[in-house]
Amino acid sequence: MLPDIELAVRLQSLDDRLAAIAKEIAELPKHVTAIEKKLDNHLKRLEADRASLVANQKERRKLEGDIQTHEQKISKLKGQMMDAKSNDIYNAFQHEIGFCQQEISRIEDRILELMGEADPLEKAVKAAEGELAVERKQVDAEKKTAQERSTIDRAEAAKLNAIRAEIVTKITPKIYAEYERIRKGRAGVAVSEAINGRCSKCHIQIRQQFLQELKQATSVMICESCKRILYYAPPESFDDLVPASVR
Ligand SMILES: [Zn+2]
Repeated sequence: MLPDIELAVRLQSLDDRLAAIAKEIAELPKHVTAIEKKLDNHLKRLEADRASLVANQKERRKLEGDIQTHEQKISKLKGQMMDAKSNDIYNAFQHEIGFCQQEISRIEDRILELMGEADPLEKAVKAAEGELAVERKQVDAEKKTAQERSTIDRAEAAKLNAIRAEIVTKITPKIYAEYERIRKGRAGVAVSEAINGRCSKCHIQIRQQFLQELKQATSVMICESCKRILYYAPPESFDDLVPASVR
């Protein structure tokens, strides 16, 4: 294999890995944001349930106060009723007492209703508090893992970039410029191996004569279809089985 081709193949493998690392580094904050958002939604639901519970308790206290007011009014009316001067006045007091009693019974119904609503709310709040504590721990752990992963990724990228820079000093500048130009225009893939008579990236069948020239490897060749640097790697078994002297 031509030294330039060998270097380009190594560059491609480094660039593939660097692209995967860059993608992972970009994905990590998105993942953290997603799990934080989920936690935030659960928190908001808990806060809404808590607010409902507070409103429920507030209404109950107010209604209990209202009952007291009505009871005080009834006992006052009963006292006044004793001094009633006529049947009409007596009946009017009785009517008003009846009205207060009705109100008390209406309020008591509403209190029972509120107690019924408070019960599942209290249970939901208690359960959510427990779940949130667990979830918060999980989010913190995942954030830590993401940060660690990111640190490892950055260190690996730095190492790979150093190796890459070393290769760039060895490859023919014109070939490197070509490599970079193709890589940028072809979704990060500048190099393609010819496998079974086809370009492994665009899958076009390679012309016989072109393939022969490619196997001779006297110059850097470009796939006629996808315009990537094409190379042919002889099967390893051939190299292993046939001594160099007879090749
Ligand atoms: Zn091709």
